[in-house]
Amino acid sequence: MEETLLVVNCGSSSLKLALFDGEHRKLASALAERINQKDAFARISGDQETITLPHHASHEQALRVLVSAFRERQLMTSSLSAIGHRVVHGGENFRQSVRIDDGVISAIEKCSELAPLHNPVNLSGIHATCKLFPHTPQIAVFDTAFHQTLPRHAFMYAVPSVWYQDWSVRRYGFHGISHGFIACEAARVLEKPLEATSVISAHLGNGCSITAIRDGASADTSMGMTPMEGLVMGTRSGDIDPGLFDYLQGKGVNAEELHQALNRKSGLLGLSGETNDMRSLCKLAESGHDSSRIAIDVFCFRLARYIGAMMASLKELDALVFTGGIGENSDLVRETTLSHLSLLGFEVSTERNRTHGRSSQHRINSDGSRFPVLVIPTNEELVIAREASRLASPA
Ligand code: AMP
Repeated sequence: MEETLLVVNCGSSSLKLALFDGEHRKLASALAERINQKDAFARISGDQETITLPHHASHEQALRVLVSAFRERQLMTSSLSAIGHRVVHGGENFRQSVRIDDGVISAIEKCSELAPLHNPVNLSGIHATCKLFPHTPQIAVFDTAFHQTLPRHAFMYAVPSVWYQDWSVRRYGFHGISHGFIACEAARVLEKPLEATSVISAHLGNGCSITAIRDGASADTSMGMTPMEGLVMGTRSGDIDPGLFDYLQGKGVNAEELHQALNRKSGLLGLSGETNDMRSLCKLAESGHDSSRIAIDVFCFRLARYIGAMMASLKELDALVFTGGIGENSDLVRETTLSHLSLLGFEVSTERNRTHGRSSQHRINSDGSRFPVLVIPTNEELVIAREASRLASPA
């Protein structure tokens, strides 16, 4: 029978769907936005029409509308063979993807305490597809699973150890679906077995994280207990001095306000005072907007510092890899970042860096660079589709 796979990615106010065939080729995708708000709407990629969703449409209602729209447009002609869900937090329970059953659902529920903004909405998606497709295998693919190989010295915080024992306070890491994909792709490009491949993977999108991958496994990563730690991001501060909390409390900023400010009003947006969108910032900086230039400079410097820090987890380095919307597209960010790292032997080729995207070359380092530097597009949906297909088939 022909295989069709559905990939589901639920955000707090969005639902992304993608359909793949048995050869893991993408057939269609759709995005619903402003879910649970009065003006919810959706679009199918390649289609001009905006689909109006019911007022305060839930994830389940949006899913029903989009599946009907796929069917009407003949994009989903056979029954689904598996459904793959992106689940943000698997805690220490999940080291890899799993087929969903009641036990898995309650384990994901338990992890909701660690990711209150993400896991409950991921579960809404799972409950919705279980209702709509009760006989189709459902697979959970976790953003934390790839980082379950972190050694203790990399995942423990230097805080009272009972916080870990009693409250699970530790570093988990995120973007694991992307970093795992980059490890495999880098191994393919470098023509090495995955188990012998060591790379630093910089995933730079609206959220940003960097991972040291040693012999194919995650050895250190910049995000921690939550996705707020580490690099400067679109609207998140990344690392911050914890002494600031007390100081700002003295200024009348309460914990919730602080959380909102560090999560939604900081990063590129906070620094520039204009936007969290790197493409717009690059244009603004070019036209002489000083705080946009500062935002880009802080972003790149912090990233360069982290690239240096990731070296502590590696015995050798086969390549530094840039990925994500910014990593794949911004030659300015790549060049500025690498300009801080000449002491470590990284050297960019201006020409290869600028023409990347117009050629199929991954490599952007100069011939004299001590380490290769690659640009590789990530594809998290493809990973989820592959995992869904693998785990749905009987062994
Ligand atoms: P993602 O979350 O992976 O979709 O990445 C989104 C980020 O990539 C946004 O900050 C975009 O502005 C940025 N981006 C996309 N294209 C470009 C580009 N050509 N130059 C600079 N940034 C870009």
